[in-house]
Amino acid sequence: MHAPSLPDRSFEDYVAVTDDDRIDRLHTLAETLESVRILHVNSTATGGGVAELLRSIVPVCRDLGIDDNWLVMDATDEFFDVTKSIHNGLQGSGPPLTEDMKATYHEVNEENAAELDGPFDLVVIHDPQPLGMIESVRRKLPDTPIIWRCHIDLTDPDEAYRSFVEAPAERTDHAIVSQSAYGDSIALPSTSVIHPSIDPVTEKNRSLDQETIATECDRLDPLSFEKPLVTQVSRFDPWKDQFGTLEAFRKAGETVTDLQLALVGGMAGDDPEGLELYERVAAQAVEDPAVHVLTDLPDLTVNVLQRRSDVVVQKSLREGFGLVVSEALWKRTPVVGSNVGGIPLQIRDGKTGYLVEPDDVEGVADRLVTLLEDETRRKRFGEDARDHVRKAFLLPRQLEELLAVFVDVLELED
Ligand code: UDP
Repeated sequence: MHAPSLPDRSFEDYVAVTDDDRIDRLHTLAETLESVRILHVNSTATGGGVAELLRSIVPVCRDLGIDDNWLVMDATDEFFDVTKSIHNGLQGSGPPLTEDMKATYHEVNEENAAELDGPFDLVVIHDPQPLGMIESVRRKLPDTPIIWRCHIDLTDPDEAYRSFVEAPAERTDHAIVSQSAYGDSIALPSTSVIHPSIDPVTEKNRSLDQETIATECDRLDPLSFEKPLVTQVSRFDPWKDQFGTLEAFRKAGETVTDLQLALVGGMAGDDPEGLELYERVAAQAVEDPAVHVLTDLPDLTVNVLQRRSDVVVQKSLREGFGLVVSEALWKRTPVVGSNVGGIPLQIRDGKTGYLVEPDDVEGVADRLVTLLEDETRRKRFGEDARDHVRKAFLLPRQLEELLAVFVDVLELED
């Protein structure tokens, strides 16, 4: 395992977007956890929502005086093939789970756990990839509580994968899921629900001056900000349904003149499916100059695209939470998203964007047209969107809930 490099974060930077009571509670929780050594384990330092969250939570906790640590698994492509299948299986569609796959999973987990150098007072395992470490961690740190933080949409898992993951998950001391419904499909120890959040001070989400925006827009040429623009930002992953987005864009383009689509995507380090899907999506874009497939953009450019698009789309088929939705809403851009997983928590239908059933391409196209043809509505939705994210989906709220769970699990008095 290795410790990823972390950005500097100061808790002071969040004061402007956090009410005083929450600030006081966070300081109290941090004091309670002052002598506690926490370890987060996940499987990638870059790409995807979990890395995005830890990159903010860990340095902010440190700034608050908590000894918070983050280790990323070292693993082979073969392991990531298996864990992507586990991810897909938990979301309802994986290949048959074989004994060889199970052996690869356990072997890599044991190798990583062998490197664990304690002591830690609390271990937080993120998602299924490192969950196979549980027995080794228990042996090494017999008195240390272990939390499983599952970020995946568990609405309707495949049975073989559900029971494979349930066995180690049940052996943890506590689980945290992103939505209450996710706890119903799998037997877990005591469970908390914590909605994820975005970090308003990062390069991805901070406010930008007009000059910076203009420079980034120029760099995105031949994409034009003078013409209508719809954007989806997602890893290249079948669950994000970039092909469905393309289809909806084409239908909307029959009504909206000069419509453009930006499909922005990256490859997460632990996601082997990305490249193949990217190539298939890019092949479609080659035939259509109005479709721009953009990969591995810097966070500043993603920020500009999310704020300067007329509408953002998130046409996922499953979605644990979908940070990209709040990222766009925070920048006052309305979002048309599928009514799956965490998306309906974020989009208030008819107020901050529109919710559409995941297989309803026609519905996405209709909603896009409604928004693209009505600037006043977009502006109104954008203001409501900003307000909704400020109240519900910024980092200090998530941090308070997370630290409160840590205090409970450790049976500390706060
Ligand atoms: N992301 C990015 N560039 C990309 C694609 C994704 O920076 O090309 C970021 C995106 O802004 C978000 C995270 O990756 O912060 C994706 O998190 P989300 O919860 O939406 O989905 P996940 O990838 O975890 O399924």
